[in-house]
Amino acid sequence: MPTMQATLAGHSIIAGREVPGNGGTVNGFNPATNAVLEPAYTLIDREQLAAATTAAEEAFESFSSLDPETHAAFLEKIAENIEAVGADLVARAMIETGLPEARLNGERARTTGQLRLFAAVVRQGDHRGVRIDPALPDRQPMPRPDIRQRKVPLGPVAVFGASNFPLAFSTAGGDTASALAAGCPVVFKAHNAHPGTSEIVGRAIADAVRDLGLHPGVFSLIYGPGSSIGQALVTDPLIKAVGFTGSRSGGTALVAAAAARPEPIPVYAEMSSINPVFFFEGALAGDVDVLAQAYVGSVTGSSGQLCTSPGLVFVPAGEAGDAFAAAVNRALAPAAGQTMLTKGIAEAWSAGVAELGAQDGVEVVARGEQGPTENAPAPAVFGTDVPTFLENGVLHQEIFGAASLMVRYTSATDLVDAARRLEGQLTATLHLTEADHATVAPLLPVLERKAGRILANGWPTGVEVGHAMVHGGPFPATSDTRTTSVGTLAIERFLRPVAYQNIPDGLLPVPLREANPWHLNRRIDGTIILAGE
Ligand code: NAP
Repeated sequence: MPTMQATLAGHSIIAGREVPGNGGTVNGFNPATNAVLEPAYTLIDREQLAAATTAAEEAFESFSSLDPETHAAFLEKIAENIEAVGADLVARAMIETGLPEARLNGERARTTGQLRLFAAVVRQGDHRGVRIDPALPDRQPMPRPDIRQRKVPLGPVAVFGASNFPLAFSTAGGDTASALAAGCPVVFKAHNAHPGTSEIVGRAIADAVRDLGLHPGVFSLIYGPGSSIGQALVTDPLIKAVGFTGSRSGGTALVAAAAARPEPIPVYAEMSSINPVFFFEGALAGDVDVLAQAYVGSVTGSSGQLCTSPGLVFVPAGEAGDAFAAAVNRALAPAAGQTMLTKGIAEAWSAGVAELGAQDGVEVVARGEQGPTENAPAPAVFGTDVPTFLENGVLHQEIFGAASLMVRYTSATDLVDAARRLEGQLTATLHLTEADHATVAPLLPVLERKAGRILANGWPTGVEVGHAMVHGGPFPATSDTRTTSVGTLAIERFLRPVAYQNIPDGLLPVPLREANPWHLNRRIDGTIILAGE
């Protein structure tokens, strides 16, 4: 395991300054050994929180009107600063999360990659959504005014880091990157499961703010309990939107708090998904051992602590399904449990598995082995049939970690019935051949209403970061079904349209001026006109 050289201060970073908190301390924790980690992290109080949100508000005007080049260079500088930390970052993240080095190296690349992708988005400028309906002074019976629309950032954004992606969905992760790309200052609440990792990345962001000469309030990293400081952050009148990844209970609590404000604000919470996978007869005619190994790999990867982990598979009853179940047993039996992120998450997993295993009509299909470290329970696959699945809500709940339920079906109607009963999902996966198309077709319109991403002959884990990706879906997958938390479309969550009517050119915001100084593509009178035309 790599060792760490950097010294950690154990304090929040509020508008560029290290601020020892006045509200007690919390320590990181090594889930592989149950050892407490140093340093202790000081927790801020409400007054210190107000300093962070006030600084964010003060930074808004200058940050939201940055020219595209400086804005993009800032995002690239964050990526560069994260890379410059070197091996210390992954070393600390490994100790705090139990995640393996290769996984964390990949996650760091994803984190810097998405920052650079958002830099490209900012330079290109389509997110500004420029629309121009030129004046028609001679229109009868009334002249038409000149109306110009663009999207503007919402204001300071609160981001809650996820435990399961200490880099890619934490301090400089997708929510922070998309909010900063939109032009919104960010107040980031660190997750207690990786406080040191958060500090290292928080410094990289604060340094980038300073390197580019931006207002220091553009970014603050705070440590504090969710129940007090997290709630106070979401209800702070200066905060205008929230990004969150975590539990269903945490996400819905934040949605409720935001909705109860005198000025309600949007909360983009990504919460709970069991990611159904549908196996059709044709797909099981191939090598079932290869398919079973891929399934087990997807269930157990990162100890199953992925929001897209396949927690539910539908497999035909009869010989083909029996052969697949036997292959899953062969593949899972030698698989050892891996360290889970926290003791609490491991305990929640064990409780969930015990509850599922105790349900009438549910049996164990396959079980792996206990891992060699602490908090590394044996992965499990359970089995049942469609009627049992339809009548018991416990079978629909997410068990966060390496567990999955195999549901045997007897007809295509079974599948449609089961799909109709599903809650909202991040993904739905189909394993099929051409011979299965007629069976699959009636299922697709049902899945489209349930999931944010539908994929064929692959596995939902491993989410591509790009322009077309959707990592979202109906509740409880997310709190706002209209968007995504992964990919460039995520920037739209932190923007709103404003129309300018008959405003003189010299007073218009730069993106809307007639001369188009930022070379933006524009929708003029309904037609997209590319910048070069
Ligand atoms: P969590 O308990 O929801 O916590 C996430 C963050 O939100 C933490 O910083 C927490 O602060 C804060 N928070 C939680 N409840 C809050 C509330 N009512 N008000 C204000 N802030 C609140 O999630 P977790 O600790 O990462 O994991 C626990 C469970 O979440 C897992 O067992 C799993 O079921 C689920 N999970 C799901 C996904 C997914 O992608 N679907 C990802 C990660 C976790 P404090 O810790 O300071 O309270």
